Amino acid sequence: MTLQIDHIIPQAAGGTASPDNLCLACISCNSFKSDYEFGLDPLTETDVALFHPRRQQWEDHFRWSDDGLRLIGSTAIGRATVNRLRINRAEAVASRRVWVAAGLHPPFD
Ligand SMILES: [Zn+2]
Repeated sequence: MTLQIDHIIPQAAGGTASPDNLCLACISCNSFKSDYEFGLDPLTETDVALFHPRRQQWEDHFRWSDDGLRLIGSTAIGRATVNRLRINRAEAVASRRVWVAAGLHPPFD
């Protein structure tokens, strides 16, 4: 899989190219994130900051569905990030279905 370097805080919003503002993202997630640093939490219908992978812990904001196919946001930040990046888009769920069948998903810590 080809990964891209994402500016967590977009350069358009003043984010720098320092390592603490960079992370790897797949092409689809990066394109949906674009220059956004906020997203809509569909539960509270408020705009909140997206998950910051350098400053926040993944397990505090996300969990996998019991079948491993869908990422569930457990906080407003998690839900907004899942929503903004369209993490549960049909193509991603189809890929996860194959990975689950092969015993490769969800990932272990
Ligand atoms: Zn992705």
